[in-house]
Formats: sequence, structure tokens, C-alpha cells
Amino acid sequence: MTNEFLQAITAGKNTLDAIKFLTEYANEVKESQHYGELMRAIGTLNLELSEVKSRLAEQILENSALKTQLEEVARENRELKNPTYKVIIKTGFYYVEGQEEIPICGSCYSTKGKPIPMKYVDMPHTPYYRCAVCRGVESIPKKNRS
Ligand SMILES: [Zn+2]
Repeated sequence: MTNEFLQAITAGKNTLDAIKFLTEYANEVKESQHYGELMRAIGTLNLELSEVKSRLAEQILENSALKTQLEEVARENRELKNPTYKVIIKTGFYYVEGQEEIPICGSCYSTKGKPIPMKYVDMPHTPYYRCAVCRGVESIPKKNRS
């Protein structure tokens, strides 16, 4: 559970306790001329509490989504600054060293620094590799076809 969530529960519980106390008090002063006034005040407080709880729930959801996005961006930033892989060029294709069975997209690597594996498309006479991200195509030279 997040800290904000616990705070919201605590704040909500405190307000509910106050409303319960006021309701009990109102029952005690039922006969007095201020009873109606007190009950209207309690109703207003209940309504305001509902609105605050609703807004708080929205804020918690939004905050959680932003934290997730921030962590993702920070992770990508770390990877771009300190890649844990080495890219090599072999027979005209880019590869991640040690993973030379699947070429990566040269265009995505050059422009975004991301090693996107390409998909082999097995056409009878002209097989090629296609990038699923930028849709770039790399044909396989005849001499390299198996
Ligand atoms: Zn690409």
C-alpha cells in the first residue's frame, strides 16, 4: 500500500468518526431548536467528504501512473547512457554481440539507440528482415542466403 493511500484512509476514518460523533450529539439534542440545523451541517459534511475521497482516489491513480512512467523513462535513460550490450556490424547487418543469429534494425539503432531485433521473412527467392517498430526492411544479399 502506498503512503498516500494510508493517509487517505486515516483522513477518511477521522472524518467519519467526527460525523458519527456529531450524529450522536444530534440525537441527544433532538428536542432542541438547533437539531435541523445540525443535521443539515452533517449532510453537507458527508457530501464534502465524498467529493474529497473521490478526488483523492483520482489523484492517487494519476500519481501511481506517473510514477510508473517516470521509472520507465529513468530505466530507458540509464540503458541509453550505459548500454549493457555491444553492437557489432557483420556482413552488412547490425548485431548485438553474442546474439549474432538475429540482426537488429540499423535504422532504429542509429536514430534511437535501441537494439530492436528484426523478424526474418521467408520469401522463396528474396528472403529479408523486417523491423516491427519502424517497418524498415533489410534484404539479405544472395551470397549470404543459406
Ligand atoms: Zn527499426
